[in-house]
Amino acid sequence: MINTNKQPKITLVGAGPGDPDLLTIKGLKAIQKADVVLYDALVGKEILDHIPVGAIRIYVGKRANNHRYSQDEINELLVRYACLHGHVVRLKGGDPFVFGRGHEELMFATDHDIEVAIVPGISSCIAVPELQQVPLTRRGVNESFWVLTGTTKDGVLSKDVAVAAQSSATVVILMGLKKIREIAKIFRKNGRSNLPVMVVENGSTEKERSVLGTINTIENEIVKNKISTPAIIVIGAVVGLHPNLNEKLKTVLGMANK
Ligand code: SAH
Repeated sequence: MINTNKQPKITLVGAGPGDPDLLTIKGLKAIQKADVVLYDALVGKEILDHIPVGAIRIYVGKRANNHRYSQDEINELLVRYACLHGHVVRLKGGDPFVFGRGHEELMFATDHDIEVAIVPGISSCIAVPELQQVPLTRRGVNESFWVLTGTTKDGVLSKDVAVAAQSSATVVILMGLKKIREIAKIFRKNGRSNLPVMVVENGSTEKERSVLGTINTIENEIVKNKISTPAIIVIGAVVGLHPNLNEKLKTVLGMANK
């Protein structure tokens, strides 16, 4: 239905890490008022149940090596649908501005004189470790956390990993599962072979699985348990606070009998 009476508007909504209840109230209200919803692969399916009957829903999810829509096409769609139908909600996994290309969409829409509202979401980078009871910061253990992409726009590992590996920061790597060997090598080079590492697949959802290990053992754990994407890698002393460390890992971390 084409509704030219409506003011074009785009709301960028962060859908949270996967658990549909981790959508914000503001995000929910925006979806309930949508004429069109464009959503990604990592958006919890139950969240789509909030889309009003009669609203247009378009899946623009991208999966590695299987691009359905390019970013340019998504930008165009957002603007076109806003002009044709009114309120477009752009629903993105986690937070729209954390490796989510939300800012590119904001700029494109603004350049086309379309009003844009932003609803932050709970990012997987914080929520997924947290749900494993692993804090990104812990007084006395670390003083910062870094959130890095394992896959830059050129498809290579970010050079920042080598810098982060020299610090005491908690290092959270998104989109890095396939580069775990390369990542581990960098940490090993910095003499950090026994640093604890956690990898969580499908965090916050019913399909959540996780493995624990050290820089030396994590690749083996991933292969053994067939961990696949979407997955988050957390590296740092705070991972040693996980409640399910086995005795072997506790010994390596010097935590036996603790
Ligand atoms: N904007 C999103 C991140 C987009 S990048 C956010 O703020 O969460 C996509 C990457 O995020 C995935 O490849 C994976 O590394 C990570 N990711 C997102 N949701 C996840 C989940 N539920 N469990 C594990 N990793 C997740």
